[in-house]
Amino acid sequence: MRDPKINKIFEVAKAENRGFLFEHEAKMLCGLYGMPITKIEVARTEDGAVEAAKRIGFPIVLKIVSPQVLHKSDAGGVIVGVNEEKDIREGYQKILTNIKNNVPTAVIEGILIQEMAPKGTEIIIGSTNDPTFGSTIMFGLGGIFVEILKDVSFRLAPITKDDAWEMLEEIKAKKILEGARGMPKADKDTIVDILLDTSKMLIECPEIKELDMNPILVYEKGARVVDARVIL
Ligand code: ADP
Ligand code: MG
Repeated sequence: MRDPKINKIFEVAKAENRGFLFEHEAKMLCGLYGMPITKIEVARTEDGAVEAAKRIGFPIVLKIVSPQVLHKSDAGGVIVGVNEEKDIREGYQKILTNIKNNVPTAVIEGILIQEMAPKGTEIIIGSTNDPTFGSTIMFGLGGIFVEILKDVSFRLAPITKDDAWEMLEEIKAKKILEGARGMPKADKDTIVDILLDTSKMLIECPEIKELDMNPILVYEKGARVVDARVIL
């Protein structure tokens, strides 16, 4: 039996006729499957954004919430490293202006306030759903490793713990995770846990046609999913 909170997320999207989940909904879903997500709150006003930031704690990140803006930074919809109230107010207005200019038809639902995660090793975990084979799980390192070098590993869901460890071993740049070239080590146990949580989520939620957690920041201990996109 699925947690009723999970059903609720999909029901809201369906009621609003949306073929995707907003970032905060996608992250809540990931959180319900045990993944480490950033603290998040949607603000509808500038004052609301300041209040949310005080609850979450500085530094924070501001992001657009709009059904027409799924690639948020391309549209000028992401501001990172906000450290004080005045900059929240400025950032809030700046994002609204950017979106009005770049995506004039966008309906703005609010601004997502979230905890700014420290720098870490960037990884990507994604999925696409094939009607014949089911859900694939993809793993790779962030940035050029996936986008240019296509250095990724794949499995079909569900995966076992051994499968997850193999996925980490199969990428060419796997040494990055071990702290090659003076980079900090990445917590592989946590990555394996996130892959297993992802597998469980995909099996239990056939509503998910595509998933893209990009990036997940991984530390010497622990990790944070800082962006998540789900297509229904
Ligand atoms: P997009 O929709 O453009 O993919 P993201 O949510 O991924 O937007 O934000 C763009 C970039 O901003 C991320 O790749 C990451 O580098 C940075 N970023 C976003 N959210 C956070 C966060 N909570 N903490 C730290 N960095 C973040
Ligand atoms: Mg992203």
